[in-house]
Amino acid sequence: MRRRYLVTGGAGYVGSHVVAALADRGDEIVVIDNLRQGHRRAVLDGARLIEADLSDSARLDAVLAEGRWDGVLHFASLSLVGESMRQPFRYLMENAMAGIGLIDACVRHGIARFVLSSTANLFGSASGGPIAEDVAIDPGSPYGESKWMIERALLWADRLHGLRSARLRYFNAAGADPAGRLGEDHRPETHLIPLVIDAALGRRPPLEVFGDDYPTPDGTCIRDYVHVTDLAEAHLLALDQLDARSVTYNLGNGLGHSVLQVIEAVERVGGRRVPYTVAARRPGDPAVLVAASDLIRRETGWTPKHADLDHIVRTAWAWREKHPDGYGN
Ligand code: UDP
Repeated sequence: MRRRYLVTGGAGYVGSHVVAALADRGDEIVVIDNLRQGHRRAVLDGARLIEADLSDSARLDAVLAEGRWDGVLHFASLSLVGESMRQPFRYLMENAMAGIGLIDACVRHGIARFVLSSTANLFGSASGGPIAEDVAIDPGSPYGESKWMIERALLWADRLHGLRSARLRYFNAAGADPAGRLGEDHRPETHLIPLVIDAALGRRPPLEVFGDDYPTPDGTCIRDYVHVTDLAEAHLLALDQLDARSVTYNLGNGLGHSVLQVIEAVERVGGRRVPYTVAARRPGDPAVLVAASDLIRRETGWTPKHADLDHIVRTAWAWREKHPDGYGN
């Protein structure tokens, strides 16, 4: 039977790629998104978009009462680490209330499966080695803390109500749909790869490299850039695990690349110089964040197919070149 999923934040970057992956395998998708950060055009034909905020609990109840659901995937969130350091209580309240309210609604409507878009920011004090699921949680920001609050609520939803969940902690989501249908368009854009590409295309001032005095080989921060389509695949595999039990997975390639290595990759792929200056460190940035994703690989067979950094950049470059204004206005 055709499966049916509700996807909150399905008009956003990772959410839209997951919607595409679910739709590609024939599932029926309803997206609920307030379009404050998401884009109408990021919801591919075939998925239905409901423009609503999760704080509208009457609307949410009405949607969940519309027949049978095989699960809910929750992406809708305020998601800027830096902004959360300046507006901590807005992040804690809005993200936690939306997430916990949604979990409560799922329990009331008898939903059996839930997937949470979580984050490597849970590991704010990680010491540099690959980060597995059993590394101590110490969120690096109120954004990360808000995701941790939702993860904890899911634990209780499982214990007390049998709601099974997958808590997926993304490292650095990057790249764009290899078929060219979707891409990355945050406003404002704060993520490294789209900023480097726009600097190379002369669409922005030179990139600011946030610190070159970290304890890393070239002094710049190291991150684990994981292709958004590989992340999407992980959601599909994690959903299949939920018939048996809840799961928690860290999602990355296990490969670290420095900011300067990302700049070099963009120069190779785009054939242009990337103008940049070295600026101060950005508060809250750990030197190294690299995932140990052995658990999801072992339990689900997940194998990233787009792990090569140049390939990740190539897909991002292709979308940006074709869509200089992203999804438009
Ligand atoms: N970064 C940078 N300049 C920028 C944006 C990001 O040097 O204009 C660095 C940032 O300090 C971090 C890496 O690039 O080390 C990735 O940052 P991003 O914001 O993309 O993701 P995050 O690691 O914060 O999730």
